Amino acid sequence: MGEQSGVQSVNHESRTLSAEDVAELNRRFQGATPEAVLRWAIDTFGSKLALASSFGAEDMVVIDMLSKIEPPITIFTLDTGRLHEETYDVMERTRERYKVAIQSYFPGRDAVEALERERGFYSFRQSVEERKFCCYVRKVEPLGRALKNADAWITGLRREQAATRTGIGVVEIDASHGSILKINPLTDWTEPQVWAYIREHEVPYNALHDQGFPSIGCSPCTRAIKPGEDVRAGRWWWESPVTKECGLHLDSKHGDHGKSS
Ligand code: SF4
Repeated sequence: MGEQSGVQSVNHESRTLSAEDVAELNRRFQGATPEAVLRWAIDTFGSKLALASSFGAEDMVVIDMLSKIEPPITIFTLDTGRLHEETYDVMERTRERYKVAIQSYFPGRDAVEALERERGFYSFRQSVEERKFCCYVRKVEPLGRALKNADAWITGLRREQAATRTGIGVVEIDASHGSILKINPLTDWTEPQVWAYIREHEVPYNALHDQGFPSIGCSPCTRAIKPGEDVRAGRWWWESPVTKECGLHLDSKHGDHGKSS
């Protein structure tokens, strides 16, 4: 890793970063603001950096923060074909507010046609395997295409969001996508922090959040939660909490052997 204007950076050969490099970055970012992490990411990766957004509350915070940092980076989303109307609405409001282009990635036409022809329109309710297959077709494969030319990507993941996310680092090696870097600037943020930021900066957000949806994915796989329920209880509610990932955020390594950064 090199040193650049007093900010330690990795070069664009991040696919070769070691677990030790990433552990060092996580130590460096302990207590850093999300804005500082984003600034570093833009300085380091430039046009090879992308933001993956499903336009949930956390993603909107990151988009707002990035809008105040130059130069703009690519925002992409996975349009699964099963999203809520409210999600398209917030995407459009984001385009207008921040004057940004949003790059949609659709699932492969042949794959969706085969999925619906051979397995039906609600196959994801039949088993975890069927649900993961649908997520693979509609999310995982398109994400691979979206990240094909990226050296790093940013997410709005937080540790307290899910049982599957308690060990995430600010910086991780994404082994599922050619060992590029995955950067999670809101790792340590709490839900009240997210909403305080949204209110203070008047950030647009998905209207479903006001209807009891803390976590929003595809329409048939997301429901409102009741008071006291876990924030991910409304995602694939027929499954165990430990299976509740769509495959977009698995297999990352943050170089500190499971310890919090
Ligand atoms: S969230 Fe549901 S509809 Fe969306 S890709 Fe996954 S299984 Fe399919």
